[in-house]
Amino acid sequence: MFEYAPAPESRSVVEIKPSYGLFVDGKFVEPADGGSFKSVNPATEEVLAEIAEAGSGDVDRAVRAARTAYEKVWSPMPGRDRAKYLYRIARIIQERSRELAVLESLDNGKPIKESRDVDLPLVAAHFFYYAGWADKLQHAGFGADPKPLGVAAQVIPWNFPLLMLAWKIAPALAAGNTVVLKPAETTPLTALLFAEICQQADLPPGVVNIVTGAGETGRALVEHPGVDKVAFTGSTEVGRAIARSVAGTRKKLTLELGGKAANIVFDDAPVDQAVEGIVNGIFFNQGHVCCAGSRLLVQESVADRVLESLKRRMAQLRLGDPLDKNTDIGAINSAAQLARIRELSDAGSAEGAERWSPPCELPERGFWFAPTIFTGVTQAHRIAREEIFGPVLSVLTFRTPAEAVEKANNTPYGLSAGIWTDKGSRILWMADRLRAGVVWANTFNKFDPTSPFGGYKESGYGREGGRHGLEAYLNV
Ligand code: NAD
Repeated sequence: MFEYAPAPESRSVVEIKPSYGLFVDGKFVEPADGGSFKSVNPATEEVLAEIAEAGSGDVDRAVRAARTAYEKVWSPMPGRDRAKYLYRIARIIQERSRELAVLESLDNGKPIKESRDVDLPLVAAHFFYYAGWADKLQHAGFGADPKPLGVAAQVIPWNFPLLMLAWKIAPALAAGNTVVLKPAETTPLTALLFAEICQQADLPPGVVNIVTGAGETGRALVEHPGVDKVAFTGSTEVGRAIARSVAGTRKKLTLELGGKAANIVFDDAPVDQAVEGIVNGIFFNQGHVCCAGSRLLVQESVADRVLESLKRRMAQLRLGDPLDKNTDIGAINSAAQLARIRELSDAGSAEGAERWSPPCELPERGFWFAPTIFTGVTQAHRIAREEIFGPVLSVLTFRTPAEAVEKANNTPYGLSAGIWTDKGSRILWMADRLRAGVVWANTFNKFDPTSPFGGYKESGYGREGGRHGLEAYLNV
């Protein structure tokens, strides 16, 4: 065994300003009635920048700017011209992807390997993909001449800050809507760099507005009477509150909420590939993934073999500096999230499950959690029922395919699932019975802009991505 030499990506490729205003009507402006907050690097606890906090007056200003741009410029513009702006934005994202990837890793804590090779290529792909739809809406299957909705209020979480922005903004603009987007309070920086990209692309003022702040800013935005559409990605709890506040209004709503996905391994699956899939399913992005495979269901006859191999693989994972190109597991996004992961993991031990982590040295500063598995988990345990949103895997076993389906569906969520088996017929049989929006077979956490994504039950409603993703932004 030998250690990898440090291979840090250069921080100097991105310039972080000491403070940022709100992006309203094409310009950065000071908040009129809000305050400010700090964005912190979770790997070091270093303050990265001071961020404006939008109050309700600022939100109002942003919604008005979006309304004016919608009526005067964006919705009357032919689709082929809107497409040109989206293509331009996609190209600039590609050109500046190194800068964006470094900034994402600094602000979020995710490994540069992931922001560079997964997040950023997908962000650009989303803009390219929806640019292609902008002049073909009449062929999308939503009527001869589908119309946009108006102003979209979009609120996103911190786990894939720029990717969630792309999932929201690209289809909205392609369909002819204008947007006011609120990034999460712990990860606002790439959205603000995206605002600069909108300026660089000469996007007409007011088409995209970015208001930063926490829950109160989000609430002011979704409750604003001038908004026609609300798109939210985040926790089920906040999703519920938003559904209540939107009920009885004319606003259209889509919700992308939490998950507790089952990753199901049958006895005929190739063990090494399945283990890679399990690791990718739960340790990718520190497990801060709504569709993470956080419950491993493994067939009893191969459970020992799979677990032995999984532990061996986990011992190879490198945890540390997110900017190091060899890092597999970065920092937990915030102190609050770390506290939640610790609380649920302690509950797992207290309820009698067996906890295991590989030998792993955690850095002294910053927010860190070692990759962890729990065996001997039953369906009654909190760690089998509640979303942990961290690098923690609960392992359960099953004997028959019917039992696997029963256990996989025994959750209030229904966002995703994974199946590992050699038999195509079994994949189809299982996929038919799993109540999950996405079912991966012999792979996990694969995303593509052409493919719809969304949940059943408490994982929310509506679809993002693909042709289906346009529906949420059209009056169909
Ligand atoms: P969160 O719900 O606390 O916050 C999400 C966003 O909502 C943030 O921008 C926050 O400021 C804002 N917000 C908070 N209170 C609000 C309110 N009352 N009104 C309007 N906005 C409000 O969730 P989080 O902790 O940031 O993110 C983690 C959750 O997001 C997990 O449960 C995860 O599963 C879910 N998630 C789902 C998807 C998906 O596509 N289904 C994707 C990523 C994350």
